[in-house]
Amino acid sequence: MRRPQRRVAAKQSRLREADEIRLLDEWIDAGKPLPGTKPPPLPSKSAGPVAASGDGEHPEYGACKQFDELPLSQKTKDALRKAGYTEMSEIQRAALPHALCGRDVLGAAKTGSGKTLAFVIPVIEKLYRERWGPEDGVGCIILSPTNDLAGQIFEVIRKVGKFHNLSGGVIVGKRKGIEEEKARMNSLNILVCTPGRLVQHFNETANFDCSQLQMLVLDEADQILDHGFRSQVDAIISQIPRVRQTLLFSATQTKSVKDLARVSLKDPEYISVHEEARTATPDTLEQYAMIVPLEQKLNMLWSFIKRHLNSKTIVFLSSVKQVKFVFEIFKKLRPGIPLKCMHGRMKHEVQQAIVADFNETTSVLFSTDITARGLDIENVDWVVQVDCPESIDNYIHRVGRTARYNKKGKALMFLCPEEERMLEKLKATGSKIPIHIRKPKAEQLEQISQNIASVLVKFPNLQQLGKRAFVTYLKSVYLQKDKEVFDLSRFSSENFAAYAASLGLPVTPNIRFISHKKNVVKKDMDDIDMKQMKSSSKPEVIINPQVNRDLIEDDGDDDILCPKKPTADTNTDDGLDDILRPKESTTDTNTKREKVTELGRPLKKKKLKINVHRPMGTRVKYDDDGNAIPPLASVAEEVASEAVVHKDKISQRYAEMLREMREHDKEDKLQHNKSLREKKLQKKVKLKRKRQETETGSDEDSHSESDRGRNASSNGKKYFDSDDEGDDAVKDGDVLAQQEALALKLLSKMHS
Ligand code: ADP
Ligand code: MG
Repeated sequence: MRRPQRRVAAKQSRLREADEIRLLDEWIDAGKPLPGTKPPPLPSKSAGPVAASGDGEHPEYGACKQFDELPLSQKTKDALRKAGYTEMSEIQRAALPHALCGRDVLGAAKTGSGKTLAFVIPVIEKLYRERWGPEDGVGCIILSPTNDLAGQIFEVIRKVGKFHNLSGGVIVGKRKGIEEEKARMNSLNILVCTPGRLVQHFNETANFDCSQLQMLVLDEADQILDHGFRSQVDAIISQIPRVRQTLLFSATQTKSVKDLARVSLKDPEYISVHEEARTATPDTLEQYAMIVPLEQKLNMLWSFIKRHLNSKTIVFLSSVKQVKFVFEIFKKLRPGIPLKCMHGRMKHEVQQAIVADFNETTSVLFSTDITARGLDIENVDWVVQVDCPESIDNYIHRVGRTARYNKKGKALMFLCPEEERMLEKLKATGSKIPIHIRKPKAEQLEQISQNIASVLVKFPNLQQLGKRAFVTYLKSVYLQKDKEVFDLSRFSSENFAAYAASLGLPVTPNIRFISHKKNVVKKDMDDIDMKQMKSSSKPEVIINPQVNRDLIEDDGDDDILCPKKPTADTNTDDGLDDILRPKESTTDTNTKREKVTELGRPLKKKKLKINVHRPMGTRVKYDDDGNAIPPLASVAEEVASEAVVHKDKISQRYAEMLREMREHDKEDKLQHNKSLREKKLQKKVKLKRKRQETETGSDEDSHSESDRGRNASSNGKKYFDSDDEGDDAVKDGDVLAQQEALALKLLSKMHS
């Protein structure tokens, strides 16, 4: 098409869009359901479609059953049809009409019932109707508890937003590529992120601006509002506008008023489509439990896998070490089906690759609870819970990885006789979780302890891992909150010995934390991936120090791949995490740590004490005895050698300087913020004008407000102009502000 023709086409399309948006706005307003109403139950198939009421132009959409009947943009309707979505699920029927007309929603529905579309569609529609463009910045934030779930949500956004001109990003994982990410943050319209990573940007990204935010979505809302994410969520809420639309979704919804108050919902619609349902788990799910003594669990698991070689299975274990150990051992024993493992200590890319691979292949995935929430993996046949879930909610989410969206699935849970109380708890749900008890069949049980012991002899590094698996399992039981179910004192020392033997260990490892309860250190918690949700939100803590050798099968854990130098306490393994513990260098440590005197006696180098609370970027100086000298003291000393400076005078001077700087700082900050705002506004106007010019040509008049289209243009997605002088000014301003903050910190320290 020639240029003038292109311009005309662009203008026409913009006008069409403006018309569509006007009509949609009118329809949404005129046909909206009354607050607090639910759609009527669907009629039987023979009864025909649900009649839409209201006037012909703006029919009520609270009762419709197909996406096409909703007041959605043509672009969204086309994308939904293309993705194969036509009929709405129950939660979509109930939540979409309320969410589309701008109400806050607290939605609960079973696992695999289609909650993602119930929030993705309103997000895209809202931004479209607001004519959100590149220069408008962040319009919606979606929080997910895990990296992989965030990735999956983003894929759904991609599908539904296929024909729209919106931008988005997944902000998860470690800090790699952070600078590039920082540079793009303000140009993304939809952010899907884990809470920790978002807070990181609020803290570190200069200019990161969410002041125009329209929507906040919390998927797996009960977990996001749980104490693990408390401080991060509070930090996020404090940074975004109070006036916004908020959507909360989960299969196990929070009912805590306090929690809800934290996200300040406004007259929310409580939508719980399966509350009156017979069961809390999918109807298509068959559920079984089996009482299995601790020392028989691995035999039972092995026998199960051997009998289900054509099934796609997820196996849940309670700790990272358990997952690694069982995976490594079973891999060596070759059951005849591909095996995979997944836990929170892996890099995000590795996790992604594993989920993608598991999606495709019939295999067994050993996992911690990192995969328990939200993940939508195709055609999982079985969920096997080798270690008891920490709660009923945890049970519901784990088994929810199968039997998704009307598909069939089965779940099996092993319970130690000591954990039988869990069964009572499940029964106490009033048959909401219909679980059948199965007796293990002795003749089907293959004993593999001897085989495991032989593997450990052949691969001594696995012995170390086995010890840790043993200890961390007991720790996980010990640390569980629900003491009615998890009580380590119910296990005898014979139980422990038999369990150790079942892991192929020649001796029962020391379990120090049981006899010295007070000594359970915080690090112990980190061995357990129950807390992986928290760790995923603090990615900088999980440092995987080894180069990854095999992205899929191993996360590069040095336990297995790089034998460690034996240390003094090798025999008293406490199961502490090797990642958190400082590593011994593989080079000769003696040459590094000790200086050999002429007499041949090692002379220990004096340890230098560094004040870890010192302001960032300051240089620490030491005196001859290795003590840190306060900043500026060395300068003061030099001065003092010429003329004695009175101590009181120095601190008085510091106090004065501090006061002056604080005052200046305040003024500077105000000035700085003001100029930033102005520059941003100018930049926005400039960008907008530039875009409109490229769309319709500079010869056209500037458009009226209703004429501001957001039609896709080839350069519409170029959001950053690195030559923009505004940006440079901002950077300079920030460096200045940082330097002043540093000086202030230094001075306050000196003064105190
Ligand atoms: P939930 O979040 O409730 O656990 P998801 O949103 O992950 O469930 O959806 C589960 C599966 O159902 C996904 O594979 C999704 O593609 C499919 N799905 C969702 N809504 C529909 C629909 N209306 N029609 C067909 N499939 C759907
Ligand atoms: Mg979900």
